[in-house]
Amino acid sequence: MYRIGVDLGGTNIAVGLVNDSYEIVAQISVPTNALQAVEGVVAGIGNAIESVLEKGGLTGSDCIAIGVGAPGICDTELGIVSRSYSLSWNNVPLAAMLEERFHLPVHINNDANCAALAEVKAGIAKGYKNVVLVTLGTGIGSGIVINGSIYSGYLGSGAEMGHMLLDYGGEQCSCGRKGCWDAYASSTALVVQAKKAAFSRPESKLNTLSQITGQSVFEAADQGDVTAMAVINKYCEYLALGVSNIINVLAPEMILIGGGVSHQGERILEPVRKYARENCFDKREEAMPFIKIASMGTEAGIIGAAVL
Ligand SMILES: [Zn+2]
Repeated sequence: MYRIGVDLGGTNIAVGLVNDSYEIVAQISVPTNALQAVEGVVAGIGNAIESVLEKGGLTGSDCIAIGVGAPGICDTELGIVSRSYSLSWNNVPLAAMLEERFHLPVHINNDANCAALAEVKAGIAKGYKNVVLVTLGTGIGSGIVINGSIYSGYLGSGAEMGHMLLDYGGEQCSCGRKGCWDAYASSTALVVQAKKAAFSRPESKLNTLSQITGQSVFEAADQGDVTAMAVINKYCEYLALGVSNIINVLAPEMILIGGGVSHQGERILEPVRKYARENCFDKREEAMPFIKIASMGTEAGIIGAAVL
């Protein structure tokens, strides 16, 4: 049998057919057109599901369920997207709307939670039960898996690691509060830190770049730019502080880092492991979780949704 996994994003809807070995056998991606009414977006999801079934040569009767990873707070019991800022949705009964069309059970959950579940079921965290995934992008996304299941808290409003406080009254966060980890360790934050450093250091190579991006800061450091190196070092400290907070509260077996910055691999992992351990309550080496790069990339959203 197959499962249908939907990775609903603010920009694109990716849909895949997933087999019992957690492999995607067919997939498509279509624009979300998030500005249209809710009914339009949900119809778009439905059309994409039909297209992917056709592409895979299957029908709904070959599938046992539909799972949707949505960008926001989800009430998984009721199948409702309670709040999504990127879609401008409030209390959308997404599961019921799709069930009506496909007559299959529909499960929904937050997209970052789905990605974490995918890593545990089919990715680098396979075989581990307690895992946290942190995705560094425009903001910080995070998913917690405890005893093999997603933990998202009462009404689905937990597991927002990005909004742990790092610095009281500190940098402005997109959530409206000041000092969240998100405002220090997202990819966006890295770029902001690099721009500030470039401004105060006119001699830095960063000032010769046509555009400062997460990637270009690392490239400038590769070319020996001391300002870029200092920015990256500080950024890794910020990243590690949040990681140590996660360890102090949850002590998972594994913490996975995903998103754009994670392409730097060991270059960020090595300092993060060191700084994180320094800030942990239990500093014993054997108490440190494995800190690794997430393995599944964009497929995690589809596979994680499918296994809901
Ligand atoms: Zn915040």
